[in-house]
Amino acid sequence: MSDNKITRKSFLRNMSVLGATAFGASTLITACGGGEPETQPAPEAATAPADPCGDTTGLSESDLNMRRNLQYVHETPNPEQRCDNCQLWIAPENGECGGCSLFRGPVNPNGWCNSWVAMQS
Ligand code: SF4
Repeated sequence: MSDNKITRKSFLRNMSVLGATAFGASTLITACGGGEPETQPAPEAATAPADPCGDTTGLSESDLNMRRNLQYVHETPNPEQRCDNCQLWIAPENGECGGCSLFRGPVNPNGWCNSWVAMQS
């Protein structure tokens, strides 16, 4: 018998080694996250909800700068400090947008700036 001749026994042994190697490799790839790509969650909306009191049309650059300098935001970072419980809040005469004694333009009742002062009762 020649040394190059593949016997049935050696063929089966080689196939079992090959099968075990393939199984191990696929298990390793799957364990490392290399299998099917995971479904990525849909990205959340990139934009925050629009501010219903965000229309600053007609305000001067000075007015806009005052809002920026006071770091006014239409959603307070601290629920206990809101424009509508600030001493400087000007309640709306109609609608939902009020004002502020420090600057012109609409102010969201849920807003805030760095000049917030607790409302005196
Ligand atoms: Fe809102 Fe600031 Fe004006 Fe107070 S001072 S009402 S927190 S913008």
